[in-house]
Amino acid sequence: NYTLGPKIFDWDVQRRRWLAENPGFPSQTPAGKPRILLVTGSPPNPCDNPIGDHYLLKGTKNKIDYCRLHGIEIVYNMAHLDRELAGYWAKLPLIRRLMLSHPEVEWIWWMDSDALFTDMAFEIPLDRYAAHNLVVHGYPDLIFEKHSWIGLNTGSFLLRNCQWSLDLLDAWAPMGPKGPIRDEAGKMLTANLKGRPAFEADDQSALIYLLLSQQNRWGDKIYIENSYYLHGYWAGLVDRYEEMMEKYHPGLGDERWPFVTHFVGCKPCGSYGDYPVERCLRSLERAFNFADNQVLRMYGFAHGNLASPKIRRTEKQTAKPLEFLDQLNLEARVETRG
Ligand code: UDP
Ligand code: MN
Repeated sequence: NYTLGPKIFDWDVQRRRWLAENPGFPSQTPAGKPRILLVTGSPPNPCDNPIGDHYLLKGTKNKIDYCRLHGIEIVYNMAHLDRELAGYWAKLPLIRRLMLSHPEVEWIWWMDSDALFTDMAFEIPLDRYAAHNLVVHGYPDLIFEKHSWIGLNTGSFLLRNCQWSLDLLDAWAPMGPKGPIRDEAGKMLTANLKGRPAFEADDQSALIYLLLSQQNRWGDKIYIENSYYLHGYWAGLVDRYEEMMEKYHPGLGDERWPFVTHFVGCKPCGSYGDYPVERCLRSLERAFNFADNQVLRMYGFAHGNLASPKIRRTEKQTAKPLEFLDQLNLEARVETRG
């Protein structure tokens, strides 16, 4: 029977003791916020097409920018820590490993390589999740009434560093081992989840199935968020960026200015996706530049239009740069300093 590692029963006690003995590694930031570790990654080998590697780099730059502005540490993983859980399942052993190696981290935030921050000012409302251990974007009616395989999305979610989360990972992982186990589980998931195509078991379907089949065990500690785009499906967003720039401003995080734009179904690093490659690459470029404008603005530059990597100067050069610093600042930069 497959396991992620030796069963741990008392992580909350072990972790609390470690935190008490290591006051130099507090689980809160100097600003008094719970410490977050953003985790992302990509396969160990080059993409099938070199342009895929270029967009992996852009996705990485985008995440570094967001994390720098908000005082969040970042881990980029390219290794398969567990050979059985290769591919989209790789996030499970990775998250577990990072929880155990970084007891000072309160929240692990998984984000797919093909998800971009598109609101550089928005911050996760962590206070709202004080009583929860998993925060994931989704819709309760799609999950619990429709049993839809897209009722929630595992491309961007937060998991608290605690015993409950280790237990969840243990319950979540068994459909993951590649080969006959993953293939058979895939058939079971397709039979049970609405709209799911026939393919091997994936981590998203497995989580939905777990939530449906053991709602009493897990339900209370899972916060299904849809008041902002912790994950936002790209197809409905990327063509509206100009309209958003005209009407709204960063910091809203919802359909007015989406926090995250996730390229579900695009596979820029693989060879086959659900959408034409050209449309995916054009849309990725637009999302990246939309986000990058919010960063470049602080330095007095902007992309002339969202389709192009070219930039232009938006501020006159000055010999007294500090006088203008406040008005160029992203709101968030002011808040997280100090
Ligand atoms: N991933 C990884 N290593 C792998 C395969 C995937 O770290 O070998 C990560 C990567 O960040 C990717 C996510 O897992 O975005 C989800 O995998 P999926 O195959 O669904 O790729 P996507 O459609 O998100 O590109
Ligand atoms: Mn993805």
